[in-house]
Amino acid sequence: MRSRAQEVVVETPGSQSSLHRANLERVVRAVRLAGSLTQAEIARTTGLSAATVSNIVRELKNGGTVEVTPTSAGGRRARSVSLSGDAGIVIGVDFGHTHLRVAVGNLAHQVLAEESEPLDVDASSAQGFDRAEELVNRLIGATGVDRAKIAGVGLGVPGPIDVESGTLGSTAILPGWSGTRPAEELRGRLGVPVHVDNDANLGALGELVWGSGRGVRDLAYIKVASGVGAGLVINGKIYRGPGGTAGEIGHITLDESGPVCRCGNRGCLETFAAARYVLPLLQSSHGTDLTMESVVRMARDGDPGCRRVIADVGRHIGSGVANLCNLLNPSRVVLGGDLAEAGELVLGPIRESVGRYAIPSAGRQLSVLPGALGGRAEVLGALALALSEMGDSTLLDGTAPSATPAFT
Ligand SMILES: [Zn+2]
Repeated sequence: MRSRAQEVVVETPGSQSSLHRANLERVVRAVRLAGSLTQAEIARTTGLSAATVSNIVRELKNGGTVEVTPTSAGGRRARSVSLSGDAGIVIGVDFGHTHLRVAVGNLAHQVLAEESEPLDVDASSAQGFDRAEELVNRLIGATGVDRAKIAGVGLGVPGPIDVESGTLGSTAILPGWSGTRPAEELRGRLGVPVHVDNDANLGALGELVWGSGRGVRDLAYIKVASGVGAGLVINGKIYRGPGGTAGEIGHITLDESGPVCRCGNRGCLETFAAARYVLPLLQSSHGTDLTMESVVRMARDGDPGCRRVIADVGRHIGSGVANLCNLLNPSRVVLGGDLAEAGELVLGPIRESVGRYAIPSAGRQLSVLPGALGGRAEVLGALALALSEMGDSTLLDGTAPSATPAFT
């Protein structure tokens, strides 16, 4: 007896049943990426008619693929559609500069468990993967989810990933990890598909799906930590470039005769904004054990030196953002990392620089917001990556492809 999946393969392209199957996939994909959508939103996202969406949602609900709950949209009664919570599991793993964070979520975008632990930056990559494997297994045990339901893992690393080979490029942050293939390593340990990306791209995805970027199609997520990076979302998708290097906003030249940057150039944005260059400015007046977090805290408490430094950082980031506006015209910029906690102390100067340096038509519709997810942005972005990369065939194999008439 042939399985249903085989039946789909042998269908004639363009037949009513293959068209119907394609429509089912479009609806499931839209809901999978967004978490939950009203039927009107599904129609807008997929381009299908309201009647087709209504019929497909009924079919998917009967097959147990989606759940439908009453909600209100703009004061009107509506039906919110999400994938069934027990349809599958995704896992996010985020290696940060000083931490390891893991989250377990379901296909309805609910986070079932999340845990973070300190990670020694000098640890070898093998130790790091051992710890990640342990933490993933512990959370799977704690939530009692069925391992067979794991659809995929999203993995974040704080360095550039070569798109073709999946190799982690040279990084001053995790020197012991240079040349490793993180996705391959974790796939070997967990036995499930693993997709990898850098921390700025995952921060962008996290904020896009769960945070300050919800509802936006064009967004830049700026992360200021020991370096300055950006994750770029263009027309709803992360833009990586052919080599995976897109978004290196930290190396925009602001001053040709400025300080020498770790990249070898002079006066990059990073040399005016990243912690390693900014914290020394305060060391003679505020001591040597400063972190970006403590400087932000003192600035919020009114310390004039810290306020000045934070405002200058904002002004310089704003110059970089203005360049980004002129090139890509995003509708939103989300500031992540510890610096975002400074709120208006840094966002005000960013907006001021954008107003000054971006051409008016490029900066006019821009909103600059702090990230809503704080230190969780990357691990939630890793969940979003796993959700976006998984296929829908297993989800739809329970839905008869040809037993119902096609709706167009
Ligand atoms: Zn540089």
